[in-house]
Amino acid sequence: MVSRVIPVDNFDLVIFGGTGDLARRKILPGLFRRYHSGQMPADARIIGAARSDMDRKGYQAEVKKALEEFVPKDARSEKTVNGFLDGIDYVTIDAMGDGGWKELSTMLRKDVVRAFYFSVAPSLFGPLAERLHGHSCAGPSCRIVVEKPFGRDLESAKALNKTLRDHFDESQIYRIDHYLGKETVQNLMAVRFGNMLFEPLWNAQYVDHVQITVAESVGVDGRGAYYDKSGAMRDMMQNHLMQLLCLTAMEPPSRFDPDAVRDEKLKVIRALEPVTPEHIVRGQYVSPEAGASYLEQVEDPESITESYIAMELAISNWRWAGVPFYLRTGKRLKARYSEIAVVFKDAPHSIFGQAAGRHRNVLTIRLQPNEGMDLFVTIKEPGPGGMRLVDVPLDMTFADALGPEAEDVPDAYERLIMDVIRGNQTLFMRGDEVEAAWAWTDPLIEGWTERGDRPYTYDSGSTGPEEAAMLLHKEGRRWREIRP
Ligand code: NAD
Repeated sequence: MVSRVIPVDNFDLVIFGGTGDLARRKILPGLFRRYHSGQMPADARIIGAARSDMDRKGYQAEVKKALEEFVPKDARSEKTVNGFLDGIDYVTIDAMGDGGWKELSTMLRKDVVRAFYFSVAPSLFGPLAERLHGHSCAGPSCRIVVEKPFGRDLESAKALNKTLRDHFDESQIYRIDHYLGKETVQNLMAVRFGNMLFEPLWNAQYVDHVQITVAESVGVDGRGAYYDKSGAMRDMMQNHLMQLLCLTAMEPPSRFDPDAVRDEKLKVIRALEPVTPEHIVRGQYVSPEAGASYLEQVEDPESITESYIAMELAISNWRWAGVPFYLRTGKRLKARYSEIAVVFKDAPHSIFGQAAGRHRNVLTIRLQPNEGMDLFVTIKEPGPGGMRLVDVPLDMTFADALGPEAEDVPDAYERLIMDVIRGNQTLFMRGDEVEAAWAWTDPLIEGWTERGDRPYTYDSGSTGPEEAAMLLHKEGRRWREIRP
């Protein structure tokens, strides 16, 4: 495969929170990989901005440490690391005060793309936005990138949107959901809208149901207090799984352009029916190991926050009427595994008789690990013994199909940051989408909070609560395996 790295325009990227965990683990290593691939112009600049009192050399040393920790050895060389560090600068700044802003404004160049990454607590978004304008750092063409969580309910999301829009136009605001930056997620659109094969079947007439799974094997270890205020619904379902659902269920946009795509996603959220309690299963993990159960880790034996949620959703439009969408996500599950599975209906009549068993086509889109797609088709099992049928995957693992370069695809953060520099908002959430997702989520959370519903328990390392399996069993279906 020929490398198709298209260099981006020259830029100044300021990372507020440049010394934080996200910057060290994701943003800076991601930028380095883009530099290493030749996508970043040689004199692009990255300016760390945080409270710590440090000079440029001190920050460069911190960045070097982060690269050594988070970029594999064979993906960096001394030359490229030093070249990358040359473009790194730092300013000590206080988002709540006036220190450092004048220095920042003199550092910024006029004739390059200007972007500000808000990798700080959301309570600092407002103060940052105000000061960026007050100190003439922001202009009409600059861009800001904001991290999740985008609010914790509709009211706070609206307030956050208002704060940002008081200072920036919607076209300047890039709300990151890193799931949208994954190669397979974009491939879902390519497969749906670039082929004749799938789209005609992508509806209630041919699809039996859809499953979306985002399973994590880690627990809330060390982040218990923070996580317990949020739970799987707010942390994962309202944003990541909702976005995957939208891309799976949306109508074809007229063009692959930001507003056309986001308009269609928004319509899906608005077409979601309210979910009744019997279609929701929430869980908390338990463990025989001392201190490893959810309630112990959040240090609140009364907590009713869920570390797992499974739901059956219905989309009320012509395309999806009567097709259940089963979504589940949780912590401390059997494996780290994420996929979207579109399960097609049975053939209307089996010429092979009952003995041939039940066979269904399934298209799975794997997000992690091992990004790729499988299309399960039914064939005859080779060899003697009559017409025995078996379902085999047509494996579309990118690395196998497209050669070693496909393994070197940018990770989600890299791609999304480059999209910010390119000014492409397609893979970022628009303000109204986020608000619509909260408007759908809020009554569900209010419902179980008011009723005081206690989550079911599930064993660490399992596939989730038994009751979640029942969600599908009662309809004669079952969850696909969570594979290690
Ligand atoms: P962190 O606590 O590790 O870092 C916070 C950063 O903000 C530090 O650089 C700190 O110096 C800076 N900061 C704090 N107060 C400041 C002030 N008054 N003025 C200037 N700088 C200030 O946090 P993090 O984990 O890097 O998370 C940053 C943001 O990203 C948060 O909104 C978080 O929700 C979001 N996020 C983080 C992760 C992750 O994996 N860490 C994942 C998704 C989203």
